[in-house]
Amino acid sequence: MFALRRSLLSAGRIARPQVARFSSASVLLQHKAVKTAEKLSEVTGPESLIGTSAAPGTVPTDLEQETGLARLELLGKMDGIDIFDLGPVIRPQHSVKGTPDDPIWVPTYDSSRIVGCSGTPHGSHEVQWFHAGVEKVGRCDECGAVYRAYELGADEEAPHH
Ligand SMILES: [Zn+2]
Repeated sequence: MFALRRSLLSAGRIARPQVARFSSASVLLQHKAVKTAEKLSEVTGPESLIGTSAAPGTVPTDLEQETGLARLELLGKMDGIDIFDLGPVIRPQHSVKGTPDDPIWVPTYDSSRIVGCSGTPHGSHEVQWFHAGVEKVGRCDECGAVYRAYELGADEEAPHH
């Protein structure tokens, strides 16, 4: 009894791909569990960034054929959001250069980023490259300016003075 039931169940499982083979590509897409994002708010992960398909005989639009990061950028632009644009560099409030208490804030999507300092005003010394972290500030060897990173994220906002 159990064996019969199991064989019927597994037969049903095997039958499914055979049915799918006769379906058109668009039907297959509709059967996918992950929905293609057509708005930025619908992006759930890399799988949601596949394109839809163009109707036969038409030239596909960017919205129909773009995938991956290009699609993510396109969806952002449709919503007026430049997703690769980092937040602003926030100048120190009370000093010309950044200090440990009043640093130059630089945005990052990570816990630190590389900063190139050319002094104040810009270009007053050779560019010095160093890390500025969220936890650990970075200091320019040339002019002593202090930089600190602030993390960009869905719910994070730029630091307020
Ligand atoms: Zn400097």
